[in-house]
Amino acid sequence: MSSVTVRVPAKVNVQLSVGPLRDDGYHDLVNVFHAVSVFDEVIAKESESISVRVEGESADQVPVDDGNLAIQAARALAKHAGRTYGVELIIRKAIPVAGGMAGGSADAAGTLVACNELWGLGLPREDLMEIAADLGSDVPFSLLGGTAVGTGRGEQLAELATGGRFHWVFAIADGGLSTARVYAECDRLRAALGEVVAWPQASDALLAALKEGDARALGAELANDLQPAALMLRASLARTLEAGRELGALGAIVSGSGPTCAFLAADEDQARELAVGLVGAGVCRTAVPAHGPVAGASIV
Ligand code: ATP
Repeated sequence: MSSVTVRVPAKVNVQLSVGPLRDDGYHDLVNVFHAVSVFDEVIAKESESISVRVEGESADQVPVDDGNLAIQAARALAKHAGRTYGVELIIRKAIPVAGGMAGGSADAAGTLVACNELWGLGLPREDLMEIAADLGSDVPFSLLGGTAVGTGRGEQLAELATGGRFHWVFAIADGGLSTARVYAECDRLRAALGEVVAWPQASDALLAALKEGDARALGAELANDLQPAALMLRASLARTLEAGRELGALGAIVSGSGPTCAFLAADEDQARELAVGLVGAGVCRTAVPAHGPVAGASIV
């Protein structure tokens, strides 16, 4: 086999609850992940050495050295297999860079699946999940897809069956937000307000809405503890969220660490109208309708 193409989805966190800051600098999280139909493509071609090229919008903001998570994934897989392998990776980006939709994690997951096939390793999903967890806390979910409750740093996953398809619109901003900066701002805000931070727990009402496929109930339950911090760092996002609510979205939330905003719609038609309305209101660079849940990293 000389070339393998893998499609891998973005995620939105329908619940992101951030626990107290731990001694090791991390937070315990409850993270309800939902994979949506905004896809990066990872193409893996035979080569002597490991390299990456990135195409698509904002490609210039993605490193092509060892800082690229896809390169790290290829190296980790080769190490696991105990041999020296080469691959030329081509990433076609549609997931916004530093947009709070786990684009880098998606590319890492896509690379694991593509190289496993290209190199003929035949490793089972469980092995890929273990390597994925070492690469980053969102990488295992990008492999898994669907809808899942993540605990710990987000890497312990329990799959959740959902009762149907949800329709979303993602309002993509100009420029990204650093995930580390958003967490630091969240800690700073909590300290300044003297907040007692509760132990994070999955919301029963949210899980029930997902199971029943009830978009109206899900819209009311969307929750993101990072949202106040993202709004502090990017005040204009408050207007974006408000515009979506005024246009009739069932729910409006910052996606992960932002600055992408996610809006839940009643159906596909409303999602399309919302996207047009958000762009018309001038509150985002572009707005992309999508649906979820979708499968994780898959060979096409
Ligand atoms: P998350 O939602 O997981 O917090 P994010 O979606 O906000 O992440 P990413 O798009 O994953 O952010 O990118 C964060 C940073 O990681 C980028 O600014 C970039 O420098 C770096 N990076 C490394 N590899 C990649 C990659 N393959 N695609 C995008 N960014 C990458």
